[in-house]
Amino acid sequence: MPTESTFLLAGLLVVAAAVGWLFARLPDFRRDEPSESSIGADYLRGLNLVLNRQTDEALELFVQMARVDDETLETHFALGHLFRRRGEVDRAIRVHQNLLARPNLSETQRHQALFSLASDYLGAGLFDRAEKLFTELRSSPTMAEAALRNLVDIYERQHDWERAIEARRKLDSRTGEKSVEVAHYHCELAESARRDGDMTSARRHLRNARRTASGTLRGALIRAAIASEEGEHSRAVTLYRQLLTADRRLMAEILPLLEAACRETGRDGEIERYLEGLIGKDESVKRDIAYAAIVSGLEQAPLLRDCVEEFLLHNDTLAPLIDIEHLKALPPDKRRASIHRICGGLRRLAMSGSRYRCTNCGYSTKGLLWRCPSCKSWESIRPLQVFQFAEMVA
Ligand SMILES: [Zn+2]
Repeated sequence: MPTESTFLLAGLLVVAAAVGWLFARLPDFRRDEPSESSIGADYLRGLNLVLNRQTDEALELFVQMARVDDETLETHFALGHLFRRRGEVDRAIRVHQNLLARPNLSETQRHQALFSLASDYLGAGLFDRAEKLFTELRSSPTMAEAALRNLVDIYERQHDWERAIEARRKLDSRTGEKSVEVAHYHCELAESARRDGDMTSARRHLRNARRTASGTLRGALIRAAIASEEGEHSRAVTLYRQLLTADRRLMAEILPLLEAACRETGRDGEIERYLEGLIGKDESVKRDIAYAAIVSGLEQAPLLRDCVEEFLLHNDTLAPLIDIEHLKALPPDKRRASIHRICGGLRRLAMSGSRYRCTNCGYSTKGLLWRCPSCKSWESIRPLQVFQFAEMVA
């Protein structure tokens, strides 16, 4: 099967052939240059060295060529890219530094070479050097967008959220994108301030996060946590209810927090009345409530208990594992005790496996993350809200 390196080498061959053709057709090009045969021979020798993995010798040959022929530029970019993709970053850096040392590069070529060198530094983990070059390219007519994307990536990796906000805003205004990232950066800053006990800063960042729907949702979770910490339990209840109404996929996250906040307010039956209202609008929410109650260990509360019982007695996957008919025939107190035991088993099953998955790359995780550590996308990780019975027999 052809690999990326194969395609790159094929590209190098095409460029070499094109350069050979050019020298053959345009005599003026040869006026002060080495002869056609020597250029062609050097190329073929260099490519042969690459193919034979004699990369040190190939590198020397191509670096020497760069001093004599402008038309080899694309070939050098391809070679530098090939070295970087192979993990041979030192060689890629040498190729691109050599190009930048050439006096006659056009602005576009110089920016391309700077971008390639910055990408090499990024690949080598030299973030400060990469950042410096990408920052230089922010005003480049040809490389600004790509440079800003790399700057955003660097600042995200370093958790430098202030700089990430600045770079992402510049990128959005340049491309017209309406990204969710800026709101999350503000939420990251708010969470950090909250952890440091600086609630004034936390609230300021949350106000900025509110400018997008994503920021409103995540920001409301943080505001509810702050309200609970500051003893404003009624406000926390209001925020958790708003969150569940906005996105019931967060049921397993929010139900235990809502239950605790309701308990603190001392208003008996508030959570039941709220959940009854949700069920009245859409019966299917009972399944989400049952799942959340089981994984949170809340299956004993009266309304939650009814949802859990209904979930277990009508679950096709559980039916072969549990004697449902026997369970149905038990007197209420014995049935309740059996359901409690079953819920304990299901909870252990849920906690031992993945409960969230990235819709973008399939990455699985046990906890809710706002950014996928694998594909780096924001808000792509969703709760599964189902018990993974396959993991029980794996
Ligand atoms: Zn992902």
